[in-house]
Amino acid sequence: MGTKNGYEVRVRGLVQGVGFRPFVWRLAGALGMRGTVRNDAKGVLIQAAGERFQSFLERLESEAPELSRIDGIDVTPIALELPDAFEITPSGPRGAETVVAPDAATCPDCVAEIHGTGRRRDYAFTNCTNCGPRFSILQALPYDRSQTTMAAFEMCADCRAEYEAASDRRFHAQPIACPACGPSLSMRPPSDDPLGAVADLLRAGAIVAIKGLGGFHIACDATNAGAIAELRRRKHRPSKPLALMGTPEMAKAYTAATARELARLADPAAPIVLLQRGDRALPDGIAPYLTTLGWMLPHTPLHHLLFDRIAVPLVMTSGNLSGEPQVIGNAEAEAKLGPIADAILFHDRDIARRLDDSVERLTPRGPVVLRHGRGRAPGTRPLPEGFGDAPDVVAYGAHLKSAICLTKNGQALLSHHLGDLDDLLTWEEFLTADRDYAALFDHGPVAVACDLHPDYRSSRHAAGCGLPLIEVQHHHAHLAACLAENGWPRNAGKVAGIVLDGLGLGTDGTIWGGEILLGDYSGFDRTAWLKPAPLPGGDAANRDPWRNLLARLDQAGLAGTADALFPGRPRDLLRQAVAAGVNAPGSSSAGRLFDAFAAALGFEGTQSFEGEAAMWLEALAGRASAHQARPYPFFDTPKGLDPAPTFAAWQRDRNAGIAPELMALRFHTGLAEAFAAKARSLVEGGRAKAVALSGGCFQNALLLELVVDALEGLPVLCHRHVPSNDGGLALGQAVVALARLDAG
Ligand SMILES: [Zn+2]
Ligand SMILES: [Zn+2]
Repeated sequence: MGTKNGYEVRVRGLVQGVGFRPFVWRLAGALGMRGTVRNDAKGVLIQAAGERFQSFLERLESEAPELSRIDGIDVTPIALELPDAFEITPSGPRGAETVVAPDAATCPDCVAEIHGTGRRRDYAFTNCTNCGPRFSILQALPYDRSQTTMAAFEMCADCRAEYEAASDRRFHAQPIACPACGPSLSMRPPSDDPLGAVADLLRAGAIVAIKGLGGFHIACDATNAGAIAELRRRKHRPSKPLALMGTPEMAKAYTAATARELARLADPAAPIVLLQRGDRALPDGIAPYLTTLGWMLPHTPLHHLLFDRIAVPLVMTSGNLSGEPQVIGNAEAEAKLGPIADAILFHDRDIARRLDDSVERLTPRGPVVLRHGRGRAPGTRPLPEGFGDAPDVVAYGAHLKSAICLTKNGQALLSHHLGDLDDLLTWEEFLTADRDYAALFDHGPVAVACDLHPDYRSSRHAAGCGLPLIEVQHHHAHLAACLAENGWPRNAGKVAGIVLDGLGLGTDGTIWGGEILLGDYSGFDRTAWLKPAPLPGGDAANRDPWRNLLARLDQAGLAGTADALFPGRPRDLLRQAVAAGVNAPGSSSAGRLFDAFAAALGFEGTQSFEGEAAMWLEALAGRASAHQARPYPFFDTPKGLDPAPTFAAWQRDRNAGIAPELMALRFHTGLAEAFAAKARSLVEGGRAKAVALSGGCFQNALLLELVVDALEGLPVLCHRHVPSNDGGLALGQAVVALARLDAG
């Protein structure tokens, strides 16, 4: 070979289908470089030479397209036969692509275009390389129009010219479309002006189903309490919060959104962000009891055109029947949503897979993902150092908030949120997603991972795969998920995991959920836990917070208080069951402790959705006039953290007429400090290198903040991209499986 006159630049990460090659082409041209750029199985490969190569390299990273994510750049000097200019060359052979771009909100250029005078004025399917549908229309890889649901639409000459021009914003934009050649809107009942008709209906208080990117929504005027009540009645959804959609101006008017929250709303993923209610009131019925509102911005051209015609925020809740997955097909929408909605706004671009809206919130530690869906899925992330050459495995997650994780080519790929596997249609969705992801990513697992609980549908499915089965304890998987998403290297040592969660089967056959685990990917020791309390009535105790309060008060020697609080409840029956050990398993669940304390402060009746009582309690504490409160005490025994003194202190506060808001805050502070102190002693004693926080309870931003405060001075790992709840569990299972495969 000749002298090394140039460089080969390998770019890894989310760099395909996001306009990366035209960006490289423009940048190289501006800097007078010669060379080539192309896609291949590992990402983007550049060969380049020129005097300004260093500047090229710097700007490659600093000016990369907004939708891209660079995981690494490797530069190798090589000898090159260079063209006279810089060229985009055809893609390399199809390899094992693992990185697929998620769907992205309409970009400012496209918004300007639908409001302009050109051929895409008012066109509801406008998109470009920087925005539009991706994963939701993808049927197979590589990502090419013929493998998407846009295959049915033949490009017109104008679109074709844009698609083929490297200098155009639509160069290789696979969903490119215009009114002459692309999808179109329609409506039931029919109208010549569907957008105008739907806007009129919504203003008049009607309920309308609207096809979005990843599924149908059900919409109504969010300022109209009557319409909201009617929507709840028709949807059989008594109190679960309803998501809202509105412009940034509306978000500023109706919520107390901070600058960081407004920026998060405008992220290309366009997630639902939980915002504090503002001065301008919206009806309570949107989110009864809660101080937060789930808000998202208009993120498709259809939404933007709708909000051109409507001056109020809209309820935009998922279009499904109670408990079922979101509807994606037009015929399905007519059958299922027809009885709920007064009208349906359709279009003829099919949705390839159901993607619920992502849900996120900002905490003092940064943004956290609560539900991993549209705009975030597939959430490909590099595996931590030490797992680079790991084999393919698949992990099947838990039962509620189900999601699947695949590992391949040094990446972990977390599926979209699938939901509660008790529902039969969601279970079918799970099986479909399993096949879908395996085919899409050409996945050949050598092992499967699942929860230790043998009765989860996901566990039974894993056991039936005919591959080596690796069962992972629920809270160990939470801990490992937190380590993996923080890139904790495989050999970096043990951490103290504070895992505060609902229920998960422990290695001793009892039900865990409030744990201090000392461990890493390969294993753990359970060093401390919340003192177990019975769950009187088993599953019923998960729905009825008062049952947990009865158990905790009896345990704390406050049975008389329980008698006074619950005169009409079947206390004696439950106490007999607890005494006889019938349908009253003991559990260290932190989630059930939250439920018990919510009941102590007045949460009545049965929860209509998972986590309702805990959300109620967090909202109550958030209303406390003080921002700091003396913690309620715990007994710290060598193993257990016993909350009995918390309930005794609560009783004294209650008798003294202390405000429930302050008691709620004292509860949060006490729990946070008790667990933080246990974790701190493991780090300061030299047994752990850091503290990791995981489990569903850490969706509670107040609890997270208090625990982080109590750990001041220590390295703390928190979830950001992967849910701390069971939605992130599959990632943890996958890395634990990889660690064990190697060890075994
Ligand atoms: Zn665009
Ligand atoms: Zn066209």
